Amino acid sequence: MPELPEVENTVKKLKALNGCLVKGVFLFDPLVLKSGKSYLLKIKGSKIKGFFRQGKYIFCNLSKERCNFYLVIHLGMSGFLAIKEKDDVSDVAEYLRFLLVFNKGFFLAFCDIRKFGKVFITKKPLLTSLGEDPLSPNLTPAKIAYLFKEKKQKIKSLLLRQDLLSGIGNIYADEALWLAGIKPTRLGTNIKEDEWTKLYKAIKKVLQTAIKAGGTDLGDEVVPSGRYTPLVYGREGFPCSRCRAKIVREKIASRSSYFCSRCQK
Ligand SMILES: [Zn+2]
Repeated sequence: MPELPEVENTVKKLKALNGCLVKGVFLFDPLVLKSGKSYLLKIKGSKIKGFFRQGKYIFCNLSKERCNFYLVIHLGMSGFLAIKEKDDVSDVAEYLRFLLVFNKGFFLAFCDIRKFGKVFITKKPLLTSLGEDPLSPNLTPAKIAYLFKEKKQKIKSLLLRQDLLSGIGNIYADEALWLAGIKPTRLGTNIKEDEWTKLYKAIKKVLQTAIKAGGTDLGDEVVPSGRYTPLVYGREGFPCSRCRAKIVREKIASRSSYFCSRCQK
């Protein structure tokens, strides 16, 4: 699933479309649009003012006749946005859900193989259901401790909760916990004071490293991929690169979690 680093890189690429005028909008899969259908007619003739990210959500700021609104996209499990420069989307036609056509010969295609992605249109530039962004300067070790330490949930599950921190998913939660040396099965209530600082540093480090690498290397031929190679995620049975013990896999919050049973305490 695309997580914060993949979404951040997508937003950077989308900024090439700033200032473009929307000539047309095509909804190939009506189910992808969850709300804001009344704005669909407004999209045609609107101008792109910019793109930004909140958690794993991509906001496209559009304006038309003094009306300011946002096309919001969540990539789901396997969604991606492709900018096309020619009148040809045949290579992604099979997965095409939503298409914007621009004045300068550009197209923006929202493609999704497994159809967990979603789009909605809103006047609000903020989703209040989402927690703090892990890369926000407002996030401190004390803030993470405040969010998690009273909760009798596994630390891995807490990291996946988008209402607490927004943007971390299965891959980077495992990576951050490995870097911090914390076992994913421990409860928030059992994490020690100095471990919150380790976790804070690990989250920042793994996300920033993955952003620089363009996201995780998914080894997928259709979904665009980055160069970040996970240190623990997906490495069941391989030796831990820190202590050489075997990496194990365990289901937590119905997701596969990977960790080292020796050096993650
Ligand atoms: Zn280890």
